[in-house]
Amino acid sequence: MRRMRNLKIVATLGPASSDHDTIRALFEAGADVFRLNMSHGSHDDIAGRHAIIRRIEQETGRPIAILIDLQGPKLRVGAFVNGEEMLEEGAAFRLDLDETPGTSTRAPLPHPEIFRALEAGASLLVNDGKIRLRVEECGPDFANCRVVVGGVISNRKGVNVPDVVLPLAALSEKDRADLEFVCDLGIDWLALSFVQRPEDLAEARALVRGRAALMAKIEKPAAVKTFDGILEKADGIMVARGDLGVELPVQNVPPIQKRLVRKCRAAGKPVIVATQMLESMIESPMPTRAEVSDVAAAIYEGTDAVMLSAESAAGQYPVEAVQTMHNVAIEVESDPTWREVIDASRKVAHETTADGIVAAAREIAEATNIKAICCFTESGTTASLVARERPHVPIVALTSKQETARRLCLTWGTHCVRTDPVDRFKAAVLSAVRAAVEYGFAVPEDQIVVTAGVPFNVPGTTNILRVAPCEERLIFHSEPE
Ligand code: ATP
Ligand code: MG
Ligand code: MG
Repeated sequence: MRRMRNLKIVATLGPASSDHDTIRALFEAGADVFRLNMSHGSHDDIAGRHAIIRRIEQETGRPIAILIDLQGPKLRVGAFVNGEEMLEEGAAFRLDLDETPGTSTRAPLPHPEIFRALEAGASLLVNDGKIRLRVEECGPDFANCRVVVGGVISNRKGVNVPDVVLPLAALSEKDRADLEFVCDLGIDWLALSFVQRPEDLAEARALVRGRAALMAKIEKPAAVKTFDGILEKADGIMVARGDLGVELPVQNVPPIQKRLVRKCRAAGKPVIVATQMLESMIESPMPTRAEVSDVAAAIYEGTDAVMLSAESAAGQYPVEAVQTMHNVAIEVESDPTWREVIDASRKVAHETTADGIVAAAREIAEATNIKAICCFTESGTTASLVARERPHVPIVALTSKQETARRLCLTWGTHCVRTDPVDRFKAAVLSAVRAAVEYGFAVPEDQIVVTAGVPFNVPGTTNILRVAPCEERLIFHSEPE
C-alpha cells in the first residue's frame, strides 16, 4: 500500500475518532500520523488509542507515527453545567477561582496567576481567539468581564491573555508526568507547546532520553523571535496557528508560516502547518473555498504535513476531512506550477558527501527515466536529506529500525519500508529493487536510484549511488551473492 502524494496528513484523535474502525478509516483515507493531545482525555484514553493505532499498523503492515502533544503551560477555563453556553456581545461574564461548573454568567478559570497579573482593560481571548472578553474589574480571585465578541464557550477551552506577561515554565508538573507515561508507552514524536527559547527543548530532551523525536510548537511571539535556535535544537516544527494568531495580530500569521516552512525545508527538518485548516468541516461535509485554498497554499510552500485538530477529533466528518486534504494534495501536486514553485524555492546545501549524493540522486532521477530514489537510512537522516531535495520521483526509505520508519511518516514524499539489516551493497540493491516493485513504485525493467553508506550500519556515511535496473531475475529468483 502506498500513498499517491508527497504531502503527509496528521489527524488528531478525540471523541469523534476513538474506536478501531474510525481510526482505521482515517488511516485508509490518508492519515499518516495520529496526534493525541494530552490536554484532553485521561491516560487510559491515550493508552487505548495508542493500542488501536499499533494494532492497525500490524493489520496493514505499514508504519504509522504517533505524535503526542503535551499541554504545556496552556490556560483553560473549567467545565460548564451544560457543557457549553452562548455568550452574547455586550453581556457581563465573570471568571473566578470557584470550581463550581460554569453557567451563562460565570465560569471557573483555575489559574490564580492570571488573576494576579490582570488589570482592568486587559483582553481575555477564549477558544483560539474566537471569543473576546474585556476585563472591567478584577481582584486576586475574580475578573468581571464584558463580552466584546461573543460565541459559544465550552468545557476546557483555551484562554490567552496577550496583553499580560505571565511567568511560564516550559514543562508543568502535568507535562513531566505525561511525558514519562507516553515515553513508556512508546511514541514517535513528542510535541512541546508554548516553546519560547531553545533551552526549553534541551530540558525536554534530557527527560525524553532518545525515546521520541522532539517537535517544537511555534505559538508564542518569543518563539518566532528565537526560531533559528529552536529549529537547531528540535527534530521537527509545528506552526501552531491557533495560539499564534491570538498572541500576535492574526494577519502576521501567514508571513510567519511562509518563513518558518522555508527555514524548516532548508534545514531538512519536517514541518507541520496546523489549526483551523478545514474548521468548517467540524459541522459540514463540505469545506469552504477559503479552507481548501489554505491547505493548497501550505502545499505550494512545500510543507511536509498539514494537520486536522477538532475536525478529526471532535467533528462530525473526520474521514471526509482527511479525504479533503488528500484530494487537495493530489490536485496541487499534479499542477506544473506547484513543481516550478517547489524547484524555485529549493535551497541547495552541498556541505557534506551525503548532501552531494542526494542532490545527485535527484538530478539523475530528473534527467533520466528513474522511477524512485531508494535510500538506506538508519537514523532517518539520509531520508530527510533526500526529502529536502523535494525530488520529482517518490522516495523509498529502507531501514531496519521500526522507530525510524515511524518517525519518517511525517517526512515529505517518503515511503518507509522495513528491511533486514544489510551488510553488503549487493544485498542492499536487491532489497531496494524488491521494495520498489512490491509497493508499486517500479515494474520489472524500470530503473531506480539506490543510495547507501559503506561500511553499513555506521550513521552518517551515505557515500554510494547506484542506478539499478529492476531485473526480473533479481526480483523473483536469485539471492545475493
Ligand atoms: P491545543 O492548543 O493543544 O491545540 P486544543 O484545545 O485546541 O489544544 P485540539 O487537539 O487542537 O485541542 O482539538 C481541538 C478541539 O477538539 C478541542 O478544543 C476540543 O474541543 C476537541 N478535542 C480534541 N481532542 C479531544 C479529546 N480527546 N477529548 C475531548 N475533546 C477533544
Ligand atoms: Mg495550541
Ligand atoms: Mg488546537
